[in-house]
Amino acid sequence: MVITRGCVVTLRYAMSCAGERIEQTEDDEPMLYLHGSGALVPGLELALGGRRAGTRLDLVLEPEEAFGRSDPAKIEYLPRSAFPAGAELELGMQFGAEDEQGNEVAVWITDIDGERVCVNGNHPLVDQTLRFEVEVLAVRPATSAEVEHGHPHEEGQACQEPAADEGACGSHDCGCH
Ligand SMILES: [Zn+2]
Repeated sequence: MVITRGCVVTLRYAMSCAGERIEQTEDDEPMLYLHGSGALVPGLELALGGRRAGTRLDLVLEPEEAFGRSDPAKIEYLPRSAFPAGAELELGMQFGAEDEQGNEVAVWITDIDGERVCVNGNHPLVDQTLRFEVEVLAVRPATSAEVEHGHPHEEGQACQEPAADEGACGSHDCGCH
């Protein structure tokens, strides 16, 4: 079958930035994602639509098709006192925060300047042109539970994520479990 919305796709991929491989699936741990759920960067999901198992792709995605452009409005300096006392703050640390609409968003610490901490809602790979080498290993229809949850389940296994109304589900952005 071809990849359409509502398919669970198994793939192997490697992601490179400026010629350096920065992320890849292990041979024995391919990635599963639900097509159409927005789990992948837009350019990758778009390129995979209509493909079949066995397809290999070598894509170079502009920032607009990958993690987008840096948005200065998402960069904020907070006093260290805004964080829990004793919290160890490190560059690159990721955590969840609430945006002005009260939605859970991922933010990263990108600068620590004395008592001021830069909290950046831009993904670390923003503004980057990325290369994706992808191999589609399998395509199957999603189960009704997968469609309802918005993510795939490992073959023959129960859901590994709490239900959406219990909190954690949907907060992951990688599509893998
Ligand atoms: Zn689930």
